[in-house]
Amino acid sequence: MHKGSCLCGHINYRIEGELSNFGYCHCTSCRKASGSSHGANAGLHRSKFELMDPHGWLREYESSPGKLRAFCSNCGSPVYAYLNSTPDIIRIRLGSLDTPFTKHAKAHTFVSDKASWEVIDGDLPQFDEWAPRDILIQTGSRQP
Ligand SMILES: [Zn+2]
Ligand SMILES: [Zn+2]
Repeated sequence: MHKGSCLCGHINYRIEGELSNFGYCHCTSCRKASGSSHGANAGLHRSKFELMDPHGWLREYESSPGKLRAFCSNCGSPVYAYLNSTPDIIRIRLGSLDTPFTKHAKAHTFVSDKASWEVIDGDLPQFDEWAPRDILIQTGSRQP
C-alpha cells in the first residue's frame, strides 16, 4: 500500500498493491514533464489507484497523440500518465510518493536524449532508447 500527493497537497492518492519495476528515462518528454534530468515512473492497474481531489484540480494534458499526463492545476505537479490505448494502466510519477518504496531502478533509458549537463554514474545498464524487455518491462508505456 502506498500514498502520494502533489506539491500543494490538495491532490492525494492511495495505491493498493505493488508498483511495477521502473527505470530512469532521460527522453526529452520526461525531462520537460519532470523539469529535471529524467523521469521515474512505475505502472499499476487503475483499479488499484484511488484519487482524492476535493477541489477538482486534476487536469490532463495530451503531450503527444494518445498520451495523457495528469497533473495538479494548482501547483503544477505531475501525478500520473497513461495512454488512451491502455487506459486501465497508469504510470505514477514516483516523486509524488509519500510512503517508502523499496524497489530500485533497473536501467537508464533514452540516454541518447539526456541533458548535456547530466553525468550518469553507477552500474545501472544504459540504453539509447527503450530497455530490452528482459531487463525492464515498462507497463503502460509505448515500449515495443
Ligand atoms: Zn497540487
Ligand atoms: Zn521518457
